[in-house]
Amino acid sequence: MGTIETQVAVVGAGPAGLTLATLLRERGIACVVIDKFDRDQLLARARAGFLERRTVQLMDRLGLSKRLRTEGLPHTACEFRCDGEVVRLDYADLCGDTPSFVYPQQEVVSDLLDGYESAAGATLLGRPVVGLGTERGLPVVRCADGTAVRAEVVVEAAGQYGPVRAALPADAFTEYDVRHGVRLLGVLAQTPPFAPHTVYGQHADGFAGQMLRSPEVTRLYLEAAEDETLDDWPEERVWRELDARLALPPGALRRGPVFDRSIVEMRTRVVEPMHLGRVALVGDAAHIVPPSGGKGMNLAMADAADLAAALGRHFSEDPGGDVSEVLAAYSRRRLADVWQVQEFSHFMLHLQHGPRPGTPDAGYVEGLRRARLFRLRDDPAYARAFLERYMGPELAPGL
Ligand SMILES: Cc1cc2nc3c(=O)[nH]c(=O)nc-3n(C[C@H](O)[C@H](O)[C@H](O)COP(=O)(O)OP(=O)(O)OC[C@H]3O[C@@H](n4cnc5c(N)ncnc54)[C@H](O)[C@@H]3O)c2cc1C
Repeated sequence: MGTIETQVAVVGAGPAGLTLATLLRERGIACVVIDKFDRDQLLARARAGFLERRTVQLMDRLGLSKRLRTEGLPHTACEFRCDGEVVRLDYADLCGDTPSFVYPQQEVVSDLLDGYESAAGATLLGRPVVGLGTERGLPVVRCADGTAVRAEVVVEAAGQYGPVRAALPADAFTEYDVRHGVRLLGVLAQTPPFAPHTVYGQHADGFAGQMLRSPEVTRLYLEAAEDETLDDWPEERVWRELDARLALPPGALRRGPVFDRSIVEMRTRVVEPMHLGRVALVGDAAHIVPPSGGKGMNLAMADAADLAAALGRHFSEDPGGDVSEVLAAYSRRRLADVWQVQEFSHFMLHLQHGPRPGTPDAGYVEGLRRARLFRLRDDPAYARAFLERYMGPELAPGL
């Protein structure tokens, strides 16, 4: 309990918050990372797994990529399946010495947390944040146990339901929140992937897909109907529908224990601007992309890298300057990237999911989807431009 004073208070120890804190520490800026979860709970959150090139380069740059580069799976191809047609896109030749990787999000968080704590970075774990106040002109983060953290800058890295933005005036932000009418059952299964790359399958009964996680664990997706719940998806049905929708010969996908199941609604969210006064938003606190493009964690860590560089310049070169201007410039730079990634994720969503049968113009919309897919197959320049965005940009210089 009591009040802690620091330069930057970071609420949330996910990929965004920990990346930011690690980079700030490296630049000699005092910060405290606060999370409602304890260490074990943080490391139990299995979510993303696809790391763009810039994310791999960022982990290299932090000196935290040893496990990722030895235990992660280089990812250099993806495949679309549609009515017996297989469109496989190989991008190994575009990668240089940094391919994108598959490496589970909880391992990224583990490496970041180990690196930060071993450099004596300050954390307050297992402490839910419940509010934001102001004292002597500075923001103060309040934890449920009575601890307060007063800082020159507060960063909300606590996901879409974060407590900091909830305490700010709603009319200071414009929020775009779009539901795409697509729901995916996602399972993690103890089974090797049936192909050594991501597979997106389109079928009259809906999407099915395989995302790699490790040689022994695979994430599998099935499009679910609007009214379906987890009870409608016993394991036997999951395996049967995966085989059918992905047109797999018997035994190609080995049945293994399913240890995680959830239904995710495909949703898009953007909050503009990504700051207010001395408060900045990073990662899912500011934007959500549907997992179709595999971009959410990458975008979160890219926000953190940009903000750390901007705050580093501010505290070292112009500490008396107007920090809200620094955060406004951060927001402008990041929103340009956020909207590019939104556009790509939207494209991927509609490449993977056809219209629901019977919806207006379903045949026309499906015709467009196939036209895009077959152009990827037939037009190398179009495929190359797509793959450049699929594997993501290089890490920007200076980050
Ligand atoms: C099923 C699924 C699959 C995905 N697949 C991919 C993929 O392949 N590639 C990809 O790049 N992205 C993917 N994503 C998205 C990715 O997981 C997120 O974009 C990423 O976790 C965002 O990181 P973040 O640090 O912004 O937020 P989070 O990871 O959500 O971290 C927020 C932290 O804030 C803490 N917190 C929340 N509220 C409070 C509070 N009141 N007080 C204190 N702490 C609080 C939480 O405990 C959490 O630790 C996927 C997401 C899902 C759900």
